[in-house]
Amino acid sequence: MISAGPQTTSFLLLHPPVTRPCEPPAGVSRLAGTLISHGIACSVFDANLHCLSAMLGRAPDLDDTWSRRAWAGVKSHLDSLRRRDTYKNMGRYRRAVQDINRLLNNAGVSEGFHIALTNFSSDKLSPLKSGDLIRSYHEPEKNPFFEAFSHAITEIIERSKPSIVGLSLNFLAQALTCFAMMGFVRKRYPGIRLIMGGGLVTSWMSRPGWRNPFGSLVDEMVCGPGEKRLLEIAGVKPHAYSGPPDYGWAVGNGYLSPGFVLPYSASTGCYWRRCSFCPEKAEKNPYHALETNAVKAEIRGLVRMTAPLLIHFLDNAMSPDLLKAIASDRAVDPWYGFARISALLTNRDFAVSLRESGCVMLKLGVESGDQHVLDEMGKGTETETVSLALSTLKRAGIATYVYLLFGTPSEDEKRARNTLEFVTANADSIDYLSLAVFNMPAWGKDADLYETRDFYEGDLALYKDFVHPLGWGRLEVRRFLDRIFKRHQAVATILRREPPFFTSSHAPFFSMAEKGML
Ligand code: SF4
Repeated sequence: MISAGPQTTSFLLLHPPVTRPCEPPAGVSRLAGTLISHGIACSVFDANLHCLSAMLGRAPDLDDTWSRRAWAGVKSHLDSLRRRDTYKNMGRYRRAVQDINRLLNNAGVSEGFHIALTNFSSDKLSPLKSGDLIRSYHEPEKNPFFEAFSHAITEIIERSKPSIVGLSLNFLAQALTCFAMMGFVRKRYPGIRLIMGGGLVTSWMSRPGWRNPFGSLVDEMVCGPGEKRLLEIAGVKPHAYSGPPDYGWAVGNGYLSPGFVLPYSASTGCYWRRCSFCPEKAEKNPYHALETNAVKAEIRGLVRMTAPLLIHFLDNAMSPDLLKAIASDRAVDPWYGFARISALLTNRDFAVSLRESGCVMLKLGVESGDQHVLDEMGKGTETETVSLALSTLKRAGIATYVYLLFGTPSEDEKRARNTLEFVTANADSIDYLSLAVFNMPAWGKDADLYETRDFYEGDLALYKDFVHPLGWGRLEVRRFLDRIFKRHQAVATILRREPPFFTSSHAPFFSMAEKGML
């Protein structure tokens, strides 16, 4: 454990690859804002954007026609994703992202790595196995991003002389490189303390009976929001107000979007936290929301500083209070985020006020079009309310990004067909669709109710496979989705609108372009 340090403590916060490189990382920016507003020196380095950019600057290993064409056009593809007119032309957009992705695939393939715009994996190492993460730590030079991150981190450390390096690990696709980066820092700068936190670390540490296999590698792992703990480590008493996130470092960084996207979390956890399939429930993550006036004040300040083209609310579900506060204010414009469907969204006047406040798109966890399935999963929604909310939002001019979940324990084929019927009946009100197959959280109460088996090999797996009580297993679900659901004309039309790779991150730009807002 790290004891409280002197006031001279200074931080370097790192965001490892791979995540979607279209907006700056919110977690490290919030931490940096807190540290800076308490007078503590802090630098942020988005290694994700840096490493992916470096890969795209390398000539491809493979010499096929597609790769040659992609390499010849990479600069113009990258430029085009930063231009507004590209989002008026899905064909041009598709070519750009597919070629960029092709080049990334090429970059690691000869060493058994698979790099993509939104993913990273290895033939030899699994991010679900602590032993493989430890190997990645001890052999950082074998990571395909090594050259890019080692030069950049060395340069930043030599310049800013941090006493602590913090790594933010939120997604599996970041894990192998996160450990390689820690291993590099430890070898090159043994005097620097290493701290790791973020969503994935929180999920690991929330498991019952968690025993830390990384104790000899990292000085401390932080479970949950890290602001308080970092201040403790720096030996500084928290102020009543912890300060806004710091995005000063990120403006002008060249993210792959047609303007600056400002990510913002008004809360952590979920105010509902009752959906049986959700890690928020399984992990019992507490709900903390900033007061709505503070949210508006912070956003106003951040808008002045960053002049964003779009504000992205990252809350698991924006609370009704937050939606009401934003609807009555024009400070946040334009914006999109995740909301839980309730009667509030069926109110026409409210939907219009949301739209006038700048809401361009809402992401909505509809999950199923079958009432029994919704009831069993604790969703707390009625299909009639969902249907009315979708049409109300659509009429008000707000695009809808609908998430569906198939294969939950109470679903069978008949109920999945009810979802298909629901989607076709409401197709005019659905702009985008995301389809997922249910994974059983390994440590939730529900996992005890069913016969489960390991899904993937690995001591860090967060999900389990389970024997479906109605015989509606993953194979049957996938067959239904591929052969029936996706082939329905109404569904296929909606699916074709989805921006490849960047999905919901770029969808608002297509909706804005359609409405003449780009
Ligand atoms: S509303 Fe969303 S985040 Fe909240 S518990 Fe349900 S699925 Fe999870």
